[in-house]
Amino acid sequence: MTEELFRADAYLQDCTATVVAIDEHGIVLDRTVFYPLGGGQAGDTGVLVLADGSELAIADTRKGKDAEGRPTHAICHVPAAGQDDLLTKLKPGDAVTAKVDWQRRHKLMRFHTTTHLLCHLVPQLVNGCSITPDYARLDFNMTDPLDKEALTQGIARLVAAGHPVAVGAITDEELDANPALVKSMSVQPPRGSGRIRTILIGTATADAGRIGGEVIDFQPCGGTHVANTAEIGTVVVTKIEKKSATTRRVVLGFA
Ligand SMILES: [Zn+2]
Repeated sequence: MTEELFRADAYLQDCTATVVAIDEHGIVLDRTVFYPLGGGQAGDTGVLVLADGSELAIADTRKGKDAEGRPTHAICHVPAAGQDDLLTKLKPGDAVTAKVDWQRRHKLMRFHTTTHLLCHLVPQLVNGCSITPDYARLDFNMTDPLDKEALTQGIARLVAAGHPVAVGAITDEELDANPALVKSMSVQPPRGSGRIRTILIGTATADAGRIGGEVIDFQPCGGTHVANTAEIGTVVVTKIEKKSATTRRVVLGFA
């Protein structure tokens, strides 16, 4: 079990941690700031700084799985190839500092929040998602055409408005009572722990039983996000593709 520090604070760039295990899947720490591939978002890269100051390059981060393929709640830091001399020095119990490649991660955060803005602009179910440092794509289950320029302008308007982005949680029961909150056909939020992490863009207020505020988007999501849409900067729709008769793909890029 790895403590997932990035869930509560996506802005943590490094942390001290203790090595729990090392195997062919990677290095497991007791806590980490590295996001593992999931929900369409790429796994983090960075370095583990060892006690003697040497740096072990991490090429990817993955969720741990047991021999039967079930999740273990461990996070595996996958070392880049050709570091056997450093790896042989590392053993369980060692203290390290985990440092995420922040420039790359911040791009992933800007793109991930933008895909949620797209869910506001295109109120259709999502059936595919991929977020990388260079581009992001979101597939909508729809047959109508989409307008590239109109979507780019819509994103710019929501970025300029500076909407806050907040991490929250709902219960399994609340989600069951509001199934429309799940906008993805391809990824189902993890049930069973009792609490499901949510991302709110905009403001939601409940005053004397009346729901107010301006909700831009609200959905279960485990990914890392910027704290305000203004931080996204300039993101444009670079391409719209008709991926299949019932799928429209929107590709995002940095201007
Ligand atoms: Zn998301």
